[in-house]
Amino acid sequence: MADLNLILLGPPGAGKGTQAAQLTNEFGIPHISTGDILRAALANETTLGKEAKRYMDAGELVPDEVIIGVVLERIAEDDARDGFLLDGFPRTVAQADALGGELAQLDRRLTAALLIDVPDDIVVKRISGRRTNPRTGRIYHVDFDPPKQEGICDEDGTELIQRDDDKEETVRTRLTVYHEQTAPLIDYYDERGLLCHFDGTASPREVHAHIRSTLATLKLEDEL
Ligand code: ADP
Ligand code: ADP
Repeated sequence: MADLNLILLGPPGAGKGTQAAQLTNEFGIPHISTGDILRAALANETTLGKEAKRYMDAGELVPDEVIIGVVLERIAEDDARDGFLLDGFPRTVAQADALGGELAQLDRRLTAALLIDVPDDIVVKRISGRRTNPRTGRIYHVDFDPPKQEGICDEDGTELIQRDDDKEETVRTRLTVYHEQTAPLIDYYDERGLLCHFDGTASPREVHAHIRSTLATLKLEDEL
């Protein structure tokens, strides 16, 4: 069976991480989130974390040369041999070109770019209510997906936090950055026949069902 090499596209707060958590279990591929990788590097005060901090705090993108190498190394690891779900990468045309080049070198190709689209006003509501388990990355929302006990993760009892860059002012910058630098990737992947579009305003369950059925069809086509 062919490998399943996927990327998730969409504005901050679209629900990429929420969907990725379920999909990777079902399809048996690793969830590679560049945001999670960078936040872990920050917490561990590694060289990568120190380089990335000021950009993340400001809501801007970490420079391409800092992030590209990290991702290309990660997708070459053993657990990504049968595929991967990239979340938060690529975010620029240079990153998309680097990914495509590396996959070609490995004699692999991208299966699909999954775009989860939501308008800006919904993004702001979602991000302002987002709470995260800093240990596992599990995502909640104070209104749309609250934990059983306020502020505490259902799974391991860790106290939930609000990310520093989820403040409204930083969110506005992140949205501008998305429209300027990342949204051009929608046409980029559409031109290559790889784009699958999903309405991210539906409930998490509905979005999940749509993505799942699209992936099932893609896998089937591949096997025929
Ligand atoms: P969200 O999906 O909510 O926008 P992420 O967790 O994906 O947030 O990213 C948080 C921050 O990490 C970004 O604002 C950016 O500073 C940095 N970052 C993550 N992925 C990349 C990337 N591929 N290129 C550059 N910067 C990135
Ligand atoms: P992204 O990874 O794209 O930045 P997240 O998956 O972290 O987005 O979701 C952002 C916030 O919105 C979280 O608090 C999450 O619980 C909530 N959320 C995710 N998907 C939906 C949805 N379909 N409807 C309502 N809220 C959602």
